[in-house]
Amino acid sequence: MKTLIKNGLVIDPANRVQSRLNLLLDGGKVAAVTSGEPAADQVVDATGKIVSPGFIDIHMHEDPVGPDGKLVKTEDTAIFNCMLRMGVTTAIAGQCGLNQYDPGAYLDLIDRDGAAVNVGMLAGHAFFRERAGHMDKYTPVTEAELAAMETDLARALEQGCLGISYGIRYVPGIDRRELERTAALCRKQDKMIAAHIRSDAGEVLDAAREFLDVGDALGLSTQVSHIGSMAGFGQMEEFLALVDRRRMNGMRVSCDCYPYYAFSTTLGSATYDPGWMERYHCGYDVVELCEGKYKGQRCTKEIFDEVRRDNPGCMTVCYVMQDQDVDMAFRHPNVMLGSDGIMNCGQGHPRASGSFLRLLAKFARPGKLSLFDAVNRMTAMPAEKLGLTKKGRLNVGADADVVVFDLDKVEDLATFQNPTLPGRGIDYVWIGGRLAARDCRIIEGDLGRSVRK
Ligand SMILES: [Zn+2]
Repeated sequence: MKTLIKNGLVIDPANRVQSRLNLLLDGGKVAAVTSGEPAADQVVDATGKIVSPGFIDIHMHEDPVGPDGKLVKTEDTAIFNCMLRMGVTTAIAGQCGLNQYDPGAYLDLIDRDGAAVNVGMLAGHAFFRERAGHMDKYTPVTEAELAAMETDLARALEQGCLGISYGIRYVPGIDRRELERTAALCRKQDKMIAAHIRSDAGEVLDAAREFLDVGDALGLSTQVSHIGSMAGFGQMEEFLALVDRRRMNGMRVSCDCYPYYAFSTTLGSATYDPGWMERYHCGYDVVELCEGKYKGQRCTKEIFDEVRRDNPGCMTVCYVMQDQDVDMAFRHPNVMLGSDGIMNCGQGHPRASGSFLRLLAKFARPGKLSLFDAVNRMTAMPAEKLGLTKKGRLNVGADADVVVFDLDKVEDLATFQNPTLPGRGIDYVWIGGRLAARDCRIIEGDLGRSVRK
């Protein structure tokens, strides 16, 4: 099946390309890039549209595996479906230390049944910590538990996980020894480490140093996750300077961010442990509940205490980030787009369905970022960070993961009330040269395969 995409403006930051060119997809690859019109089974006229490499989401949270041993793929609410509808063709899951399932087995499952998008996994530190038998997140692991974690994590990396993720915030008992011994496993095949660092706001610089010291000491490629919700409270400039200093001293470190001014997490998480209001300089009213009888309401002390006690898994949205800090992150050349999308049976933050559309609609279209720059943060930058040489680019021989979109029409429509609502303006998405989505609707939802290293 040969597909010709003609007359579109091809933007391919990995190759420093931005020209009207025709693309021929064949055999799952980009077979030709030309000004001519080679014969094809299907011809798509992309006049007036942008042709880009399929988007790569370097930070998101995967769908669970059901009791039947299959990936949960509920049409409207599965997160991989949300990803595909907004133009993502490769998603990197297993973030913040969390895995829904053994990550190596998860990759096998993706290859067996297919997924809406290609999926790469990080091995989640907290998942392996619990598997080693340590259930108390506030205390350090024993030597025997640490040894068990090392064995299991090494196996997950052998199975093709792209690195290890940490949610230091969610496991306060983790110490330097545990961080360093587990991270050291990534040296063998030069895999990456990523973290939701220990704290945010006024404590973000110390928290960043703790994690960067580990990556630096081990010489690892290091990623600081969703920096808007870590340093987006007035600390962004200092935080970025800290990262820049490390880079100037030889460290391979970069960051991701999502283009929203509010974050979301469960009410029972350590984010809301006592002291949180002092840290953010706010009151209970910045927290909106996404589920249960108070869905859509802002908290009072009474509601906060009741739900945190009775329903700690309740998803919340917290409106405390500063617009200028998030915008500053996206102007910095070392920050890529990671949605941090997370879905809990269709409940959650609209970033899972809207992040990539939003960067185009709210940053690129009004000129806050050039279109090339925005596309770079969604394609070439994450591909390079992950060491993916066939994705995030459109030269001859690259994987035929392609998006065609209309910059004038692209819009994120998902809201905190309706976080899975598809957006508009993504005309076509191909995965491996096959049409996966059209007009933000899924055509074939199982073309994605595992991405391993
Ligand atoms: Zn996180």
